[in-house]
Amino acid sequence: MKLKCVNCLLRLSPHHFIKGKKCFSICDICRDRGLEANDYFNYSSEVYAEISELVYFGANHLTKQDELELTSSKRKLIESIIAGYDDASVVVKKGISRHDLNQQIIAYENNQIQINDIGSFFDNLAQLGFQVDNLHDLQKIDYTSRMLIYNRYHNRCQYCGRKGFSIDHMKPVSSGGSNDLDNLTLSCRECNKLKRDMPYEWFVEFNLETRQINQQLVIFEHKIDLLVERKEKLSRELNAYMHRTGITVDERTTNYRDQIKAQQGLLDGLNSDYNSLRELRKSYINARFQMYKLEKRER
Ligand SMILES: [Zn+2]
Ligand SMILES: [Zn+2]
Repeated sequence: MKLKCVNCLLRLSPHHFIKGKKCFSICDICRDRGLEANDYFNYSSEVYAEISELVYFGANHLTKQDELELTSSKRKLIESIIAGYDDASVVVKKGISRHDLNQQIIAYENNQIQINDIGSFFDNLAQLGFQVDNLHDLQKIDYTSRMLIYNRYHNRCQYCGRKGFSIDHMKPVSSGGSNDLDNLTLSCRECNKLKRDMPYEWFVEFNLETRQINQQLVIFEHKIDLLVERKEKLSRELNAYMHRTGITVDERTTNYRDQIKAQQGLLDGLNSDYNSLRELRKSYINARFQMYKLEKRER
């Protein structure tokens, strides 16, 4: 059973539409796009909700699909990537969060990313900008080692201090690094990607230089997490209230929606500052890497 999202027209399995016991009228990708489920009417989702006795959630008049025009081949590719991800191992899901995947898919839909040679699931992920070698490597690291690393470093990226779930080879596998515990550390996806072919010692040094930015990033990440949590709590409360009472618009729901909107406003502001800071750090470290390579050549 697949449901069709009224906004992007992707056919996806129902769990992309379900949150808790609610069946939303647009898919999670479109919700990641910042769209409100309440604004969309979705017939298939409503029928599904009826037969499965889930509460359908969404407007019953409006349907919009403004700018998004996907060719059918593009739509098929996206659907296959999403289905691949749905079936992927826990390791893949730890390495690539659904949210990150959605963001890249949105970028692909908006033609900010091109996929030229459609290939295996991992090829397609790589073309979406994900570091997949590492996911393959990660698969080879046994469960115990992985858990030891997560525990040893308290799920924190050892380079920047933010949350980290990527097992990082200090000496890359490509230059003969092993899967021994001594060669493994924990990093966030961003550092993992940024470090790529930089020698471990260099990357550590660059991170010392951006220490103050890194500290700010940790604070931002924490604040954003809190806001997201608060916003989700409000949404859950609003949904529960509407589910219980059958009322979709009254003073209370309006109040909830206003609060949610306010949280979203704060979140947008924070995210935009956070992203500028991330970009700053990235370009600094990349520039330092280029300088180091030049200096090394001169010596
Ligand atoms: Zn959608
Ligand atoms: Zn990091």
